[in-house]
Amino acid sequence: MDYEGVKEFKGTISDAYPIPKTMKAWILGDPDQLTLVEKPIEMPKKAEVLLRIDAVAICATDLDVISYGPPAMIEGGLPFNKQFTPGHEYMGTVVALGPSVDEFKIGERVTVEIHSGCGQCKRCRMGMYTSCHNYGLNYGKVDKGHRANGFTTDGGFKQYAVNNINTLIKVPDKMSDEEATLVVTAGTSMYGLTELGGLIAGESVVVIGPGPIGLLGVAVAKALGAGPVTLIGTRDDRLNIGKRLGADYILNVKKEKDIVTSIKNIVGQNGADYVLECAGTEQALNDAIMMTNRGGKICLAAFPHEPIKINIPHLVINNIYMYGIRGEGKSATHRAMAFMSEGRFDAKLVHTHTFNLEELPKALKHARERIDGAIKVVIKPWA
Ligand SMILES: [Zn+2]
Ligand SMILES: [Zn+2]
Repeated sequence: MDYEGVKEFKGTISDAYPIPKTMKAWILGDPDQLTLVEKPIEMPKKAEVLLRIDAVAICATDLDVISYGPPAMIEGGLPFNKQFTPGHEYMGTVVALGPSVDEFKIGERVTVEIHSGCGQCKRCRMGMYTSCHNYGLNYGKVDKGHRANGFTTDGGFKQYAVNNINTLIKVPDKMSDEEATLVVTAGTSMYGLTELGGLIAGESVVVIGPGPIGLLGVAVAKALGAGPVTLIGTRDDRLNIGKRLGADYILNVKKEKDIVTSIKNIVGQNGADYVLECAGTEQALNDAIMMTNRGGKICLAAFPHEPIKINIPHLVINNIYMYGIRGEGKSATHRAMAFMSEGRFDAKLVHTHTFNLEELPKALKHARERIDGAIKVVIKPWA
């Protein structure tokens, strides 16, 4: 702990967690080119802490960022060749406190949500910090203070990370590091369902797409009292995990003659009250529209890679609401953690693989190609 960055540091550190000068970090070069390097450790400023990253999960959006760039935005542009470290679903241990931070203690385990808004724009003032108008404006002369780990600021495929205290959620002792990385995923599902109206107890919910957000969407919908909850997908192994997370019905779309009819046979001819759409394909979006009842709501938690054609006339004539969510908003991660710490559902069922930091390329390949039934793949940077 003798290097200049730490010497000049005005916050709090502890001998129990000595902070080295550099850390191992993966950085993104050209698309799909990741290199493991030694990177300097940034120290936390006001309202920030430094975390030792103990576990980080891979998300489908990380794969998009690494191959294509968006939705990451670094220094106002694409994230390539800017010493940028991706990864956004991480947890760890607090090892340094920025000046005036008394909300957390050194040694505490926390998991993080992605976005810390600028705190000063119209949306942040409304509590909608995931829709911050200053997204990505956090560099050079235009520093508005916005941060989104692994999207507009450095992420978690490394050993230490600075985080705003507003992004932290305390992890109970009994919860494993791996499970704690899933809080942000469950929080995204929770945000989608609460933004649909929140009062979903006794209402029918259909979840399309049994990826991590869809699977935990089933779990959160059940925990919120929805019923029946139906999960639609194409892979029986994933659908069966959905069943274990509480789905009342699972439907393999490949085996159904007409998925909309199948849903109406379950929920009644008026259709489903709420649909959480996590597949992001033209077919899935149109199925979602056709299976939702009049005045019902569809939440879009996945996005197609190009513009697509959807049945707008049916949507309008039937007063169906449809809207997108970006990530985990409105502190939904805290509500997800409340359910998970109470054991209301077993999020661990979606965690399938663990690798160490050096194995990141192999881990990404497992996630991308779903090798060996991979769903959530977790990296342990200190293993
Ligand atoms: Zn994610
Ligand atoms: Zn803002």
